Amino acid sequence: MPITFAHQIEPALFYMKPIELLPLYGTEWLLLALVGLMLSVAVWVVDHGARAVGFRIHELPARVLVAVAAISIGMGAGHLVRDHLGAPTLIIVMAAALIAMLLPRRILLSGFVRQLNSSFRGVALIGLLGVLSLSLASQPSSSNHAIDAAATATSASRRPNVVLISIDALSAQHMSLYGALRKTSPELDRFASEAIVFDHAYANGNFTTMGVSSLITGTRPWTHRALQILGRPLEWVAKDALPARLRAAGYTTASVSTNAVGGVRRLGFGGEFDAQFPDSNGAVFPCMDSISGWLPFWCTAMQNPWTAYPWILYLAQNVFGFHHDNRENHDYDPAIAESRASSWLHGQQARPIFLWVHFFPPHDPYATPKPWLQSFDDSPLAITAADSSSTYYYDWAATSSVRRRVLEARYEEAIAYVDHSVGELIADIQERLGPNTVIIVTADHGESFQHGYGGHGGPALYEELVHIPLIIKLPQPLNAPGRRSERVEQIDIAPTIADLAGIEKSPMWEGRSLVAVPSEPSNSHTVYSMNFEENPARGELTTGSVATLGGSWKLIEFMGRLHYSRMPKPETLLFDLTIDPLELHNVASEHPDIVRELAAQRATDMAPHQGPVAR
Ligand SMILES: [Zn+2]
Repeated sequence: MPITFAHQIEPALFYMKPIELLPLYGTEWLLLALVGLMLSVAVWVVDHGARAVGFRIHELPARVLVAVAAISIGMGAGHLVRDHLGAPTLIIVMAAALIAMLLPRRILLSGFVRQLNSSFRGVALIGLLGVLSLSLASQPSSSNHAIDAAATATSASRRPNVVLISIDALSAQHMSLYGALRKTSPELDRFASEAIVFDHAYANGNFTTMGVSSLITGTRPWTHRALQILGRPLEWVAKDALPARLRAAGYTTASVSTNAVGGVRRLGFGGEFDAQFPDSNGAVFPCMDSISGWLPFWCTAMQNPWTAYPWILYLAQNVFGFHHDNRENHDYDPAIAESRASSWLHGQQARPIFLWVHFFPPHDPYATPKPWLQSFDDSPLAITAADSSSTYYYDWAATSSVRRRVLEARYEEAIAYVDHSVGELIADIQERLGPNTVIIVTADHGESFQHGYGGHGGPALYEELVHIPLIIKLPQPLNAPGRRSERVEQIDIAPTIADLAGIEKSPMWEGRSLVAVPSEPSNSHTVYSMNFEENPARGELTTGSVATLGGSWKLIEFMGRLHYSRMPKPETLLFDLTIDPLELHNVASEHPDIVRELAAQRATDMAPHQGPVAR
């Protein structure tokens, strides 16, 4: 089966273990059962309601129209239940209705049960089997037995607090901190003046799942294997990641995310956080980390168009809280993450703490509320959430130049928007936690507006996509503000935090601690960014792209057969970043020796990770 075809039918086949497919399909059947339930209820209501007022609706179109109206009313009722009694109550009500349908007709809802045909009962039964099979999908255990908690917890109270702030799709090139012409990041500029700024920090992947997994696990995507948007790190990698080690050393851990794709429950880190404020917004699509706590394969099932579209989408949008308000641009409000993090901090007496906050803007849609909206470009274009998303990958080239320019301005407005909330959060953190606190601000990946390439993810690995901000404020008296020019990567953050916290680093981690100023020349260290989203997560790595940065050079190699719309014939790219930082001149054919040398080094470093991993 061609890889793209399989990807379209069931993306989960690329990243799930066979044992996980049963609960996944169980979840999908459960969703289908809910769709059937909604339709059956609607038809029942239509028939009985019409008869009660002396009508019989015979024509199918009329029945469908009235049924849709009935569903809308039911959605409204569900919405009320959720808002007043909570989403768990709503789930219980729905599950009770489902079970009721399976009871003997004389016991309950006899008239309703007659409306159900035997095939729907079969679907409902499979849905229940799906619920039962979910027990197979337990979260990873919360403690790592390899870590000697007793030995490391003795001096817990003296360890610094650690706050990690990751900002989704924030490209360093678009921040005033890194030289952007517009004043996009005034708050972070101010914070950076009293912190250490890394001028050459790189994301190890080019979209959320890969980026946050590298941040938290200290391993590159070729090791953690969270290669697809809904993939997650291998269990043995997750169990020895930063949150587990900090928690074992006595840290109270908390996570706030406003992007469910990077939510700790969905990623399999739910057990490592004492407090979790998962995304319940469904901002990306109806994938909500809050639901992932009950249905671990909710997000995955939501990606299957056969089960998600259109009824489930509607259900999620209206019942579970995905209100896409196209006029106000408030869905992605960074103040939501800021206030959740702040209120947790205010109620938290235990020390030390590890708090990870992931902000959604400037991820598309880029349109912000006022006063940020149109502050950099007053055009009436792309001013709503419905009309301000990027055209992804190589399809960007087909976007008009006017729209490209406006979208880039909207993106920069969204940076200023998130910068405002991050500034407020940092002020609150400093006031609450005092000087014995490490504050790290970075991004999961960047965003592209150049090279005929839009958005993030896919095979491109240009600087806009992988050059990210990294600002570290150390506890006093270690903090020595200034700019550091050595090349560093996301995977360096976990060992850096471990060093500052005085805990042992995992031998599995691939990064280096940044606490000490290196003696080597600034860019002698080789770093890697990659994308293997079209490669099965546990298979041999044969399809994808890798950027190798060594010396002043950046090599981008494409491997295997890639399937992206409008993708030009892939050719090896080599740029000399010292004289061509915008990557305008591919010099691969002029320097075949450099290409060979970097490719050989990449092959050597990748070899231990390239083979298939245990399923
Ligand atoms: Zn992201």
